[in-house]
Amino acid sequence: MELTRDAASFREATDAARDGGASIGFVPTMGALHEGHRSLLRAARTQTDRVAVSIFVNPMQFEDPDDLARYPRDEAADLAMCEAEGADLVWAPPLEEVYPLGVELAHPDPGEVGDLYEGAARPGHFAGVLLVVHRLFDVAGPCTAFFGEKDAQQLFLVRRMAEREPALGVTIVGCPTQREPDGLARSSRNTALPPEEREQAACLFLALTEAAERARSGERNANALVAVMAREIGATPLARLDYAAVVDEATFEPIGVLDVPARAIVAARFPSARLIDNIALPKAAA
Ligand code: AMP
Repeated sequence: MELTRDAASFREATDAARDGGASIGFVPTMGALHEGHRSLLRAARTQTDRVAVSIFVNPMQFEDPDDLARYPRDEAADLAMCEAEGADLVWAPPLEEVYPLGVELAHPDPGEVGDLYEGAARPGHFAGVLLVVHRLFDVAGPCTAFFGEKDAQQLFLVRRMAEREPALGVTIVGCPTQREPDGLARSSRNTALPPEEREQAACLFLALTEAAERARSGERNANALVAVMAREIGATPLARLDYAAVVDEATFEPIGVLDVPARAIVAARFPSARLIDNIALPKAAA
């Protein structure tokens, strides 16, 4: 496994692999790697010839400086996981390699969806995400990039950006959310939860599965599903509901009736961390 710090060396390595006829699987991360990231590495390993990983905590997508300062970092453990999962190339750049002084970078517009849900809770977040992901794609070159469904709104916006800019040569693959045994979505932020909060954090998944069950049993009113999710999270003493919604998979906009492929999304604040999760809603059983 090769570790590079500067953008030029990372690009040289991916170019050399492509010149040799290999496809590149690219897994962008902010480090503190866990089982969710591992699943992306494995998907890349099975679907592409060479696996490239980036590890970069992007300050531009944090609107709260304390949140950025608290973000967990453990490069040695990250490199060990990349190596164990058969990554070929890791790019762990310093800030100036991602945002070089005097270089004008593309600022893709997240549009209206960028102001909803996570974008409403974290103003400027998706502009920061698309800025860094576009830069990472520019440096990595043509590839298949793997993203988690855990961050469904991010996946939607990144996929739309890649589709709108075919010159990037990037195809996006979404990978299923990896969960703890009680259903809590794996996240770098889970380590911040003390035991009582950790126990109650399963309420997000409970809310989503209850909504999914209602959809399977024939409920077509999205507001009824939203109410079910809000009730479940609202009944959890340490959780404060941020949002619960049902969105159209094709537009990420809220829907009233489940007559298109839809996804339920939730966010809740606990005293020690803010958690998000989502689930694809099944069609009603015949
Ligand atoms: P992050 O390091 O948090 O920026 O995440 C890097 C990638 O891992 C993103 O595409 C995330 O959606 C994905 N990811 C994070 N947690 C999970 C999870 N529990 N299951 C699947 N993918 C995940």
